[in-house]
Parts: sequence; C-alpha cells; structure tokens
Amino acid sequence: MRCYYSTVASFYVQNFGCRATQADGAAIERQFEDCGLERAGDPAHAEIVVLNTCTVTSAADQDARAAIRRVHRANPQARIVVTGCYAQRSPDELASLPGVTQVIGNSHKHQLAELTVLELESAAATPDLNFSPQISSLLQSNPRSFVPLTALLTENRELRIENSIHVSDIFAHTELLAAPVFDAANDRTRPNLKVQDGCDNRCSFCVIPYVRGQSRSLKLEDVLREVNTLVASGYRELVISGINLGRWGRDFSVASNNLRLATLIRAILDDSTLEKLRISSVEPMDWTDELISLAAHSSRIAKHAHAPMQSGSDAVLRRMHRKYRPWHYREKIEKIHAAMPTAAIGADVMVGFPGETDAEFEETRRVIESLPLTYLHVFTYSARPGTPAAGMPNQVAAPVARERNRVLRELASEKKRAFMRSFVGKSVPAITLRAASCGASADENSSRPVTTEALTDNYLKLRLDGRYESNQWLHVDIRSIEGDALAGIPISQ
Ligand code: SF4
Repeated sequence: MRCYYSTVASFYVQNFGCRATQADGAAIERQFEDCGLERAGDPAHAEIVVLNTCTVTSAADQDARAAIRRVHRANPQARIVVTGCYAQRSPDELASLPGVTQVIGNSHKHQLAELTVLELESAAATPDLNFSPQISSLLQSNPRSFVPLTALLTENRELRIENSIHVSDIFAHTELLAAPVFDAANDRTRPNLKVQDGCDNRCSFCVIPYVRGQSRSLKLEDVLREVNTLVASGYRELVISGINLGRWGRDFSVASNNLRLATLIRAILDDSTLEKLRISSVEPMDWTDELISLAAHSSRIAKHAHAPMQSGSDAVLRRMHRKYRPWHYREKIEKIHAAMPTAAIGADVMVGFPGETDAEFEETRRVIESLPLTYLHVFTYSARPGTPAAGMPNQVAAPVARERNRVLRELASEKKRAFMRSFVGKSVPAITLRAASCGASADENSSRPVTTEALTDNYLKLRLDGRYESNQWLHVDIRSIEGDALAGIPISQ
C-alpha cells in the first residue's frame, strides 16, 4: 500500500550503526518522499524525526538514548519515531523515553512511513488533513492495524503507550529494505547497496539475528536495476553489502539455479558497465575459491577483502559458536593473499569474550601477527541481554579487555603502516572523493592549500595536492606517507 499525506510535513532520518542500518535509513527516506513528505535539513526543524538505531553494544544503546533526549530538548514539538535494531530488541524501554511517539521495530520498518502518517493523522485529528482514498479507507476500517508484540507476549502487563509500539516476531518477516546509501562525507561518490539482510547463524555474542531475522536476499533483477540506475546517474564505484553478504542467494528456491554471491557479482559485471565493484565484509568460509578467483581476475572488482575473524583461538571460536577453526581462517586469508598480493585484507576481531584467558588472547595476537592482514577493526566484547554469551561465566574485567584492545590496535597500526610503505614509489588506481583546504573543510575562497582526498583500489586513504573533481578514477604515483594517508601525484586518468 502506498500512502499520501497532502499537508506537507517534514521529516529527518538519523542513522546509527552499520551500513545495513544506513541502507534501511535511506529506504525509509524514500518511503516518506513517496508519501509526499519533505526532507528537513536537521532534526531541530523537522516535524517527524526518525532515529534508526543500532543495538550491537551497550554503548550503541546509550548513544541512541542520548540522541532521543537531544532531539526532544532541541525540538520538543517533533514526533520522535524510534526504529531499528534497538527498537526491535527493547521497544518498551524506548517507548518510555520522553518525546518518543512511536517505536517501530525492524519487523515493521518496511511500513514505517505509512504507520507514521497514520499516527500523525490520529494525533492531529484536524479536518483540513486530506488523505488518499487508500489511507482514508484504512483508517475507517481499522485505525489500529498493528498489534504490538508486547501486548501479545505478556498478558496482564501494563503498557504505557501500547498503540505506539509496532513490533512483531522478526523471524516471520522476509521483507528487505533496500536503497543505496550515500556517504555525505565523501561527496556521494561511492554508494553502498545492501543486497542481503538478516542472518541464520547464531554466534553466541551476537544479537543481530534476533533483531534482523532470517537471512534474505534482494532479487538478482532488483540488484541489477539498482546498479544500473546508479551507473546511469554517474557513479563509478559501488559497494555491495549485507548483514551476512556471503549468504546472498541461499534463501532462493533450488529452482533459481543455486544462485550464490559469485553468481551475483558475475551478473553485475556482465549486465552493467559499472567501473568498480567493492565487496564488503564476507564471512571467512564464504570466500570460496570461485569468489576469490573472480575478485582476483577482474580489474572491475576492487582489490579488497574483509573477512571477520573474531578470535584466533580455537577454544574461543567454539564458545563463540563460530563455524570455522583458526586453521580454516588462515587458509582463506593465505589464499586471498596469494591470489591478490596487493589487496587490502581486513578482519574484525573481538577481545574480552567471556573466559578469554591471557593464553587465548596471545593465540589471537600471534595469528594476526603472522597473517597478511592490512587492517583490523578491533571490538571489545559487550554483553547483549538474551544472548548465550551474556550468561557465560568468567566475564573478562574491563581493564584487561581494554589493554587487549590496545595491544591489537597497535599491532594493526604497524601492519597497516607496513602495507602503506609497500606502495611508496609505485603507481596505484584511486577514486577521488572530495577537495578540502588543509585543516578545514572544502572552501572555494580559502587561501589555504587545497588537497583532494581519494581512496585507492585497495582501500588506502590518499591525498593529492590540488583540487580534483570528485568521482574520477586516476592513476597516482605514490611519493610518500603523510600522517594517516598516502600522498602522490596523478599520472593519468
Ligand atoms: S555471522 Fe554471527 S556475528 Fe555475524 S551477524 Fe550472524 S550471528 Fe552475528
């Protein structure tokens, strides 16, 4: 059902967390625009503020609560709609915060704009609001068309604002929100397209399957349509992502010829003129020989592989319910490196998982040291209510986990530096992002020297002296390392 709101209201969507959440946020913006609402420039000037939350750590929860309070203080008249993973996990907690008018879980995110418009109408109840025939008939027939999960689950439990909560069993849902995400920080040059959502794994520390539901994929024809639309709009690099991207296609029926991630990538290369495709995080065992070979042999695929490791200790991986052993991980990374010696290879690593001993941490450190990884995302374990790990004995003390995090970040920075050094004196392809005056944001009138930020094919930050148009592929001679970036001179387009 489409909705239409004839009295123009303004909306603002603020996203937290991962790329998948940002993709959902972009799809929510599309929904509001389809309903005839207008984007506001900031939350202080919007009638509807959507906070699209993350719940991957307790710090993420805290950020969301702080943002809700901030929005309510700055704009007390705004209707605050909270959605996303935190909304799915703990709707009552969010509904009780001042200023929150609706909590819409991931289960109902695909209808968020409709639900918000309905709520807006009920609240305003003004005669001059004219709704489309569909909305009017829906309102007449069933003004409360969604039953809150909280009401279903808990008999005799008081709900303070029960009609504002729209959450149901996420595992019953198979919708997939998809809209490309543009990163405002880089002048909209590298859109990110989510092609898969949810996860069928049950890593013992992870809340994602419970808030995003089962793995589901965007249909091949829909992916190709989005890719071709982006290419036609002038984009030259596109990132494909998912919650568990390597599972793309597994939810389709056998009749659809066992579609796999490699099939999707091959189809994108064959059926579009996209110049560069970047594959975001793929679980280690989904880096199949076919996928590695495809990435290695196509100059249109960025030389960049990200494979979450989490731990290098067999015992910890088992407690985490991860499906591979450290030797499997090693084999995959070595294969990727052998096939693409200049590729950026990244990993997520978690420290302080319950029961992680000094010896187990040392195993992880050694595995990282010995592998050709070029960057790491280091996380400190944070107990998520309802996950098996939250109830495990021997939770690691915060100072110990902090120190382990520091050790790995230091190791990561040495490895990254060595990787960067290996390109000094060589030429690399890179896409330009945006120009900036040194020490300031881009300003045409600034007298400060201007540099242009770029990103190499193999995921290294690069700075070029001078102003270059964004979204251009250049070949760059790398001359030095300056701070956290390579510095070089373009030699050709
Ligand atoms: S693979 Fe594990 S860590 Fe990743 S989303 Fe699924 S359950 Fe969470």
